[in-house]
Amino acid sequence: MQKQDQNRKANAAVIVAGGSGVRAGLAQGRPKQYCSIGGQAVLRRTIRAFIEHPRIDHVIVALRVGDEALYEEALAGLSSPKLLKPVPGGATRQLSVAAGLEALSALSPDAVLIHDAARPFISADCIAGTIAALEVFDGAIAAAPVTDTLKRGEGGAIAGTVSREGLWRAQTPQTFHYRKILDAHRAAVEAGRTDFTDDAVIAEWAGLSVGLVENTSENMKITTAGDLAMADMIAGGGCMPDVRCGSGFDVHAFGEGDHVTLCGIEVPHTHGFLAHSDGDAALHALTDALLGTIGAGDIGDHFPPTDPQWRGVESGVFLKHALKLVTERGGRVTNAGVTIVCERPKIGPHREAMRLKVAETLGIEPERVSVMATTSEGLGFTGRKEGIAATATATVVFSR
Ligand code: MG
Repeated sequence: MQKQDQNRKANAAVIVAGGSGVRAGLAQGRPKQYCSIGGQAVLRRTIRAFIEHPRIDHVIVALRVGDEALYEEALAGLSSPKLLKPVPGGATRQLSVAAGLEALSALSPDAVLIHDAARPFISADCIAGTIAALEVFDGAIAAAPVTDTLKRGEGGAIAGTVSREGLWRAQTPQTFHYRKILDAHRAAVEAGRTDFTDDAVIAEWAGLSVGLVENTSENMKITTAGDLAMADMIAGGGCMPDVRCGSGFDVHAFGEGDHVTLCGIEVPHTHGFLAHSDGDAALHALTDALLGTIGAGDIGDHFPPTDPQWRGVESGVFLKHALKLVTERGGRVTNAGVTIVCERPKIGPHREAMRLKVAETLGIEPERVSVMATTSEGLGFTGRKEGIAATATATVVFSR
């Protein structure tokens, strides 16, 4: 037991961010530690918990190779003299921790706290508690008592009830005297063991004493998409869902023909549209509205009128493309509204068919779609029956 009180030596934290975590991250298309909860990357929250703690002097992150740009993005604008340059992680969690420990060897801190990047809600008390426990043990881990009743299953049926007496769920930080856990890690690699799932197991394997520091289950580990959603709510993001509204406007002039296509429905008319595609101004406006929710430019950027492949194409193709882009970014369309402005043809008899067609194209319930029509009281180009104008709005809710 080293005299921490007389002359406190430095304490360091190794944050393990080596996982690919795609299961939880899918919604945001990135590993979970780089997903945003309450408007901030998981990893940034985790790092802040340590750099803002008075007992922590150095923080180092073990990164998955290739995640450097994500790391920079997650930490943009965050600077602290405590934060060291990240180290490349290894093929397993154990090897990533080992890389972090080796990178601290020149600093040779007194204690090292090893912590999962995916546990952003670690409390200051828990950090201090595991450090304090080193006065008694070689190491100490945060852990929560098992509160659920445990069942052993066989073939889908209960084969017995397991006593939860004395059972704990291991969390992180797992805190050790630096030299002791470094030696244990080195010995594990020398013994050909690279698959230990946490550092307490390595410590046990090396014969070190490891204490349990009771903690709450608030120190959750984000593993699934459901965990990510719950973490977002806890982090405060749940009170402010990411709702975005886009708007669009389009006009097409009448030309030769015997029908116009609006909202994907052919409406008989004395004219057709002068247009490169089918001229469906309503769907063009709605396509722009969807693109507007992800800042993805407008319909002309995606389907240039100069490109012959879009000649005469059904405009549902454009809308579906915009929907795909929105969906890929985690968006869910919750409302689409179109207003068509013209004197002729009469839209009223076709409104319901248009509404159902738009709902079908977007894959949402018809009650989430509205199609409205108005004249312009004889004024302007629509009043002079020279063409048709359409406006649209789209509401999209994004998962963070
Ligand atoms: Mg157009």
